Amino acid sequence: MQNLLFVGHGNPMYAIEENSFTQTWQELGKTLPKPKAIVVISAHWETVGTFVTAMENPRTIHDFYGFPQALFDVQYNASGSPELAKEISGQTEIQLDQNWGLDHGTWSVLKHIYPKADIPVLQISLDRTKTPAEHFEFAKTIRYLRKENVLIIGSGNIVHNLRMINFRNNFGDDWANSANETLKRLVVNAEYEQLINYQKLGSEAQLAIPTPEHFLPLLYILALKNDDEKIEIFNDVVELGSISMTSFKV
Ligand code: ZN
Repeated sequence: MQNLLFVGHGNPMYAIEENSFTQTWQELGKTLPKPKAIVVISAHWETVGTFVTAMENPRTIHDFYGFPQALFDVQYNASGSPELAKEISGQTEIQLDQNWGLDHGTWSVLKHIYPKADIPVLQISLDRTKTPAEHFEFAKTIRYLRKENVLIIGSGNIVHNLRMINFRNNFGDDWANSANETLKRLVVNAEYEQLINYQKLGSEAQLAIPTPEHFLPLLYILALKNDDEKIEIFNDVVELGSISMTSFKV
């Protein structure tokens, strides 16, 4: 079952740029089996309690500022799936949402993976009252979706520190490269306890994950992975000093 991805989304501008990351995303769309629907856990939707988007036509949310008009003009017109949302809500503690839509954690990436927007897309929010360990356990409640040919994507960045960002730096700062290597090794070696307790991984990891929201989508993907499934790494680059694009395909 190739239907589990963690994608480092990075700069929203990648929605309208062509670079090595977006080329990989486009390639993914051509090689992954076509899913019945896509569920995205995005860093950019935090709520109290957990919600799933349940509208027929989710809007494209431009949840940023200070970017060129061309980025605000982007629309990703995938439909939603009220039926699937209802089913998820019936099977789990996830509540229906009619207000959100697709934020840039979702559309900036899907625009490249599935440019035709012909697959229904739902988002599931991150409950900001949950601890990382609770997120990891909670993620397992949507595991059944994998058997229903639903592609589940976690969209964040495993190293994400906006205070340390330097747009003129094409590479990672030493601490960011080192944190990226550590986190990547723990993912590949299935050291999930250590990843859940990332706050105990030392000062570099603390700089890499100053707030949890860009890291938590990774825990969802790891919680949904079966032990016998292999992880493939792609877009393994740290850039702008403090952002890692490192991504994982299960
Ligand atoms: Zn982001």
